[in-house]
Amino acid sequence: MLHIACDIHTHTIFSRHAYSTLEENVRAAAELRCELLGITDHFSAMMHPESAAGVDLRDYQHFLNFEVWPEVCHGVRLMHGCEADIVDLDGNLYGWDMPLERGLGGPVAGPTETLQQVVFRDCDYVIASVHSHPWAEGASREQLTRMYLRALEHPKVLILGHVGRTGLDFDIDAVAKRARELGKLIEINESSLYGRQDSTSRCTEIARRCKAAGCMLATGSDAHISYDVARLDRSRQMLEEIGYPARLVATRDAETFLRALERALPTAR
Ligand SMILES: [Zn+2]
Ligand SMILES: [Zn+2]
Repeated sequence: MLHIACDIHTHTIFSRHAYSTLEENVRAAAELRCELLGITDHFSAMMHPESAAGVDLRDYQHFLNFEVWPEVCHGVRLMHGCEADIVDLDGNLYGWDMPLERGLGGPVAGPTETLQQVVFRDCDYVIASVHSHPWAEGASREQLTRMYLRALEHPKVLILGHVGRTGLDFDIDAVAKRARELGKLIEINESSLYGRQDSTSRCTEIARRCKAAGCMLATGSDAHISYDVARLDRSRQMLEEIGYPARLVATRDAETFLRALERALPTAR
């Protein structure tokens, strides 16, 4: 049986439409003998209404105090991350164009950073995902491929999230090839394997193409409640069915994932 011992994509109450705390997620992971758990709350326009006053760092401070987390909790290695929305056809990620005029303590003096720079700074890795995509309306396959390739190049992005769920048509061979070159990961997203059959077959096809390209995969539950944390049975089953080589499953154990992270983002940590 394919061994998978990491869940690198989960949400907590800081994602607002998710329901569990960090502690609840960690306990759920520990019960299922998960070795490594990534907490990756949304970093996107979903989180806060736009305001004429601009972005306010106070809305994002849960990304700024990771240092209080223990490295290992209930025997589970904890990773700090976020799931950042891809926001345009250039593959830019949320917050890239949002200068911060005030920090937590008031207006900032001197040169301003972007919200993205400040939020990404302490993240071990970023998952880049497409959620709502009115900007992709009418985009060509070439444009969507370039979008994913550009997102993959971002120095903090380790993983492209749920690429099989969006319905966007892109060249998975080109993206998987580039992921392999960069040592980055394509996610097999457990929650995309429930529900719509077309999403499941698309995810399976993507996994087949990744296998052909020899790129590494990461498994994520995308849990929005602790009961779904570290439950990766459908991903495991699908990868077994298509004979995905275990050596290319970055989430098979904590050590493999940490090594992949270190290789792909050597300067980011
Ligand atoms: Zn969500
Ligand atoms: Zn997610």
